[in-house]
Amino acid sequence: MENKQNTPRPERSRRPAFRPRGAQPNGVPKTHNIGLQPAKAFGDGGQQPTKPARPVGTPLARPAARPHQGPRTDRPYQGGERPRKPRPQTIGGQYVPRRGREKHEYDPRMLPVTTDQPLKPERPMGTVLRAEHGKRAGFRESAKDIVRFCGLGGLEEIGRNMSFFEYKDEIVIFDAGLEFAGEENPGVDYIIPNTTYLEQNKHKIRGIVVTHAHYDHIGAIPHIMEKLGNPTIYTTPLAREIIKKRQAEYPNTPPLDIEIVKNRDVIKVSDNFTLEFFNIIHSIPDSISIMIKTPVGNFVYATDVKVEYDAKGVEYGLEEFRRVAEQGIHGLFLESTNAEVPGKSLSSELIMDNIEDIFLKTKGRMVIAMFASMLTRVGEVITLAEKHGKKIAFSGLSMKTNVQIAQNLGYIKIKPGTIVQLADIHKYKDDQIVILSTGAQGESNASLMKIATGENRSFQTKPGDTIMFSSSIIPGNERAVQTLKDSLARQGAHIYHSKNSDIYSSGHATADELKAIIKAVKPKYYVPIHGYYFMRSTNALLAQECGVLKENTIVADNGLVVEFSKTGFQVDFDHQLPAHYVMVDGLGVGDVGEIVMRDRKMLAEEGMVVIVATLDKKTGTVIKSPDIVSRGFIYLKENVSIVEDMRKKIKGILAQMPAHKEVEMDYLKGLIRDQIGQFLYTKTKRRPMILPVIIYV
Ligand SMILES: [Zn+2]
Repeated sequence: MENKQNTPRPERSRRPAFRPRGAQPNGVPKTHNIGLQPAKAFGDGGQQPTKPARPVGTPLARPAARPHQGPRTDRPYQGGERPRKPRPQTIGGQYVPRRGREKHEYDPRMLPVTTDQPLKPERPMGTVLRAEHGKRAGFRESAKDIVRFCGLGGLEEIGRNMSFFEYKDEIVIFDAGLEFAGEENPGVDYIIPNTTYLEQNKHKIRGIVVTHAHYDHIGAIPHIMEKLGNPTIYTTPLAREIIKKRQAEYPNTPPLDIEIVKNRDVIKVSDNFTLEFFNIIHSIPDSISIMIKTPVGNFVYATDVKVEYDAKGVEYGLEEFRRVAEQGIHGLFLESTNAEVPGKSLSSELIMDNIEDIFLKTKGRMVIAMFASMLTRVGEVITLAEKHGKKIAFSGLSMKTNVQIAQNLGYIKIKPGTIVQLADIHKYKDDQIVILSTGAQGESNASLMKIATGENRSFQTKPGDTIMFSSSIIPGNERAVQTLKDSLARQGAHIYHSKNSDIYSSGHATADELKAIIKAVKPKYYVPIHGYYFMRSTNALLAQECGVLKENTIVADNGLVVEFSKTGFQVDFDHQLPAHYVMVDGLGVGDVGEIVMRDRKMLAEEGMVVIVATLDKKTGTVIKSPDIVSRGFIYLKENVSIVEDMRKKIKGILAQMPAHKEVEMDYLKGLIRDQIGQFLYTKTKRRPMILPVIIYV
């Protein structure tokens, strides 16, 4: 479907006047990419009965997103001296009510219109952009000797992690992840970071460091590498294999240049950047953090990381942090995912003890559902199963392939004969069987959901089975997981999850663990990364408890550039690099923008009405009664009077047009949209999307 929304709309005065022609391409409503398949047949198909009128006081429709009020973010940032602009009233597409518009007043501007300006998507969770927290401290240097840091994703959300450091004409990038789209972006597969600035400066890029193999750190790679000039990727063996496996799913992408790094490797990637890699603990083996040596100072970039405790409560996983800290750390970048979770996380030993208890109690078959990427736990469960003479079967392709990769690299050790095919489990006694399955988040097409719905050919639940969710529920998935548990319980399965037993711990450091890392690194400056604003600001407070000065904790959102000199730092909150969402939908990357998304939401919430009017090209008179089609609005067959009134109104509008004269098509369509919109609002208190189609014959 052609998406005319992306092409600049001509000024009204320059629009060509309507010239009647035989076949009228202008009559096709190309201006609306409604994000749907073209209607197969006109008519009204099986809609819900009309719901009662909206109670007074409820919002009527999502307000149209408003163009970015602040400075433009699409201008490349050149570094150096930058013009100061007066502070904008709002930043970041936050909705500002239009002056003079009452909440319930009908406003034709609320109808879908095409807009030229790129709009920023709504910020998740209403985060505040202007964080005065850490704005400028001790910054004295000229613009020459500074290291710039910018997060392009991961600073206002969980996921799509990507940051870069820049010094003069050199850039080093850290991670390139994706974020799952959630309900607020209907139809979108996932979201990737905005790499506009990096594409404009790709000649400066000296490499991409990938810290570990989770999709929120590697998922964007197939979509961006070509645009960035396919720079060298520095990563660990496990991440390399999983990146390659994913890349193979995109046959038209260039072969990647991946350089393997291991603990304590020191690599000079450019004149001014030397990277020292070191191992840290996370929920997947082969995770690294990096000390970045620059002319300004040493920085530690620590993404997903946790601290472990043994049975006696002695911590481990900090040794490498302590070692690099001996070289003096100017700035620490540390994740915030669990900054709000007080105390320490449960130790792996305790969790494995609890899983073992359940193993011993269980008489039937056991299914353990978890992320296929939680490879550390997967390996531990396999070892435990071997200890108790159980067989392991995999359900879910990603579980199978990930374990295969980890086994080939020696991260998971499996005795011969432990793994059996899912189709062969009937050959063993029920209490011998452990199935490792994907789909613990209730994903509709993942393995556990297929088991619950009986679609899995090799395995159906029966009374006596035990299903264990070794996972925490990602916000937004609660309902899907609830449905899944219900369905499994109805089939007689016994269910364990992280709320009724201690069988899961996150791979992300909790408050006490973060403090342990901060104390080990002893940075001068502290930048919380990864997480919503409130998570990062909580994380900043933790650093202050550990002795980092309040003015040296920097909470900067996506796209903001933090400039570090030897003596201080500064953040220019009035200038941002482009960091808005790039959405991946099917084969399209970035072609679904906020306007399409707004239309999708509007269609979902209010439905649509198509009006087809056929006019005589010579006289301009209506040839036949206008056709009216609706979807998701009201069931037209049961609302004949509204349809008849609409027809009358449309005929009335068309009759007002001067006969034997060129009529401006957009003007006529706008008139129908406004007046029919007003009419339907009066009758139904709803604002369906109205698509007028004018055909001259
Ligand atoms: Zn991770």
